[in-house]
Amino acid sequence: MSQPQMRRATESGVPDNKQFLHPLLAKNYGNWKYHDRPRPGVLHHVAHNGDEVWTVRAGTQRQMDVWTIRRLCDIADKHAEGHVRFTIRSNIEFMVSSWDKVAPLITALEQGGFPVGGTGNSVSMIAHTQGWLHCDIPGTDASGVVKALMDDLYDEFRREEMPNRVHLSTSCCEINCGGQADIAIIVQHTKPPKINHDLVANVCERPAVVARCPVAAIRPALVNGKPSLEVDEKKCICCGACYPPCPPMQINDPEHSKLAIWVGGKNSNARAKPTFMKMVAAGLPNNPPRWPEVGEVVTRILRVYKADARGWERMSDWIERIGWPRFFEKTGLPFTKYLIDDWRGARANLNASTHIRF
Ligand code: SF4
Ligand code: SF4
Repeated sequence: MSQPQMRRATESGVPDNKQFLHPLLAKNYGNWKYHDRPRPGVLHHVAHNGDEVWTVRAGTQRQMDVWTIRRLCDIADKHAEGHVRFTIRSNIEFMVSSWDKVAPLITALEQGGFPVGGTGNSVSMIAHTQGWLHCDIPGTDASGVVKALMDDLYDEFRREEMPNRVHLSTSCCEINCGGQADIAIIVQHTKPPKINHDLVANVCERPAVVARCPVAAIRPALVNGKPSLEVDEKKCICCGACYPPCPPMQINDPEHSKLAIWVGGKNSNARAKPTFMKMVAAGLPNNPPRWPEVGEVVTRILRVYKADARGWERMSDWIERIGWPRFFEKTGLPFTKYLIDDWRGARANLNASTHIRF
């Protein structure tokens, strides 16, 4: 009888990371005694058997050309025993087995234009979505916003002077694959999609598009004798969810696609439960290449948080303690009934979804 065939390895998916680890990390995997931070940007791990590893964390512009990556790899070969890894916030980390190698590595990185920091109570590198370079639906360039903002926050990345760690994220559509953060910058569409009725029948699977709308605002329609779709603009919340499956429902607009700032999101369970972020500034112009209006609001919130929060309060803990009215007073941001979404009508608002009812 023939033996059952072993399942063949698939060619997609993430490869086993152990083969790429620094030898000391592979040797001591899951066997660490403690870790500390000798200075901002440097982590020090000590294993139960006495092995020590220093990790130097640096910031990059995230979307890098091949020459920049080669420069980073040259630094890794020359100063860091040939190993690097990226964190989930796109910091690059270099591992070395002796403290003597840390200072020359930091010098090489900073001379190459890569700031060392992002550890502890600093503003870490901004997690961002792909923007114009890779995705097919963005309304802005999340990576461009990141570059402009991190230039403003350069010193906060290199120091650990915030009350607690600060995670930022940017997203280039309202569907938002960027996720939660202490401060998040998210595209905000302010007009319903404009429909190119000549293309809908050829390009879109209409039932899928109808099902996609969270407020049931899309209906099939015959327009100029052709099967198409129509939007009930009174219901439409301008979320943009119909645009990815149906590009003729164009929602991106140079003037009416804006940026909004959300604050107080956190995934961790440390000290307080995870929280959802809430919108605190809306309608900021989508103004490349430096997005100065967004930078002004983000740095203003960070300045007030840094001055006013107690030690170890995350953004959400700080706002929870002082309350939303004080948040708006202290930051000087104008409050409107469209912000936060915990006003008493929010329940009806949420009930408007075709999927969620309570
Ligand atoms: S946030 Fe939206 S537009 Fe940007 S990469 Fe993610 S899905 Fe694409
Ligand atoms: S933008 Fe959102 S709410 Fe408006 S029609 Fe499209 S899916 Fe529905």
